Amino acid sequence: MLILGLQKTTLLDYPGKIASTIFTGGCNFRCPYCHNRDLVIPPKDVIAYSEEEIFSHLSSKKKVLDGVCITGGEPTLHKDLPDFIKQIKDLGLMVKLDTNGTNPEMLKALIDANLLDYVAMDIKHSKDKYNTIASMNNLDISVIDNSVQILTSSNIDYEFRTTIMKECHSSEDMEDIGKWLKGAKAYYLQSYRESEQVINPIFSPHDRSTLESFVELLKPYIPNTNLRGID
Ligand code: SF4
Repeated sequence: MLILGLQKTTLLDYPGKIASTIFTGGCNFRCPYCHNRDLVIPPKDVIAYSEEEIFSHLSSKKKVLDGVCITGGEPTLHKDLPDFIKQIKDLGLMVKLDTNGTNPEMLKALIDANLLDYVAMDIKHSKDKYNTIASMNNLDISVIDNSVQILTSSNIDYEFRTTIMKECHSSEDMEDIGKWLKGAKAYYLQSYRESEQVINPIFSPHDRSTLESFVELLKPYIPNTNLRGID
């Protein structure tokens, strides 16, 4: 595991839980709006956390923490993620995984082994336009679709979530995404925000009323659709 960040306590990253958040390094996507540039493309002189440091913290705080959120970057790029999660579960902590859905085999193996309590999967766009955001050299959308199917047919708690940008997401796109994710447990729309860490600051947010209209458009497909983090 390449661990490049640790937030010792958060009430925001794991819905309804007191958690620590662990940030893994490296990602196979290059979303232009990504706020985690130094995680996606780690600087050469980056200093990583050792697993000993992480587990020393988790062991000392396990009585006050409900769980751990593992985010990135893309955590499933790390082959030793299942072993790492197993050690967290052995401490009696719950685990939430944030993923871009590009490793359905690992996702399924983690679910089958009861190593996950919650999954938040990014949905970048409609299937046809997915790579306009993900920006991979070769994106096989069936891989993303496999992860969607694994989550929607599982019994664990999960959510899909999309960062919405004015230049990219229209009501037609929302309709396409709604048809794709129909019947999902939960779907959150998050508005784009600019910051110094954004990989390529070329986007802008929709206004609130447009975002609310997207939610109404999506509800016939996914009744539990909501806005998140909108002022
Ligand atoms: S998948 Fe997530 S971490 Fe990777 S580039 Fe996109 S927003 Fe950043």
